[in-house]
Amino acid sequence: MSSRLHNIKSKFQSYISTSSASLRKSRVISLGSPSRKIHLLGLISRRHKLATRSLEINLTAHCNLKCYGCGRGSPALAEDYISVPQLSEDLAVLSKILHVREFKLAGGEPLQHPEILKIVDVVRGSSVADQITLITNGVLLHQAQDDLWKKIDGLWVSVYPGVKRRLSRDQIMSMGRKHRVKVWYKITDTFTRRVLNSENRDSDLVRQIYADCY
Ligand code: SF4
Repeated sequence: MSSRLHNIKSKFQSYISTSSASLRKSRVISLGSPSRKIHLLGLISRRHKLATRSLEINLTAHCNLKCYGCGRGSPALAEDYISVPQLSEDLAVLSKILHVREFKLAGGEPLQHPEILKIVDVVRGSSVADQITLITNGVLLHQAQDDLWKKIDGLWVSVYPGVKRRLSRDQIMSMGRKHRVKVWYKITDTFTRRVLNSENRDSDLVRQIYADCY
């Protein structure tokens, strides 16, 4: 086993050994650069590989919108794109020990990444996931090539108030039907506060947040 694979595997194993429950939630490890976080949700052990329902990467740190309350911190982050060779290298290692049901491509705004098609190919080629879902604010969706629609399985469009998109909801849904892409058109008019400046002492609320988290 290469030392890199060993390090990553150890990292995962340390998460598993920290709890007796089979289901793990909201684990975050950092692969590649420190600003790239991979979120591992519902982590369980399955035979020789770990399995989880969802894994998410940020293709860009920045975004073409500046929403007040952005949970990603994108309005404050500099222009930054995930490195395709680095991602490819990371997934080659990760896929040996992990399988996910859904691989989410998020940001910032992932459609701003000039190599998004290559990224989808890299994720697909790694066989780390069953499905690939793109999460976007939809503003640049009219520029997406047919190839992108053909390569993904799911599309999540976050619709923020007052933001104009060239493609209407009907057009987006119709593209989804044409390419057999499952589309979630999510109207988002409130933001979830993710960072607290003080301890949350409401244990019922803490339990509810834990249960509902992703
Ligand atoms: S569209 Fe999403 S990522 Fe971009 S600023 Fe708004 S909330 Fe943040």
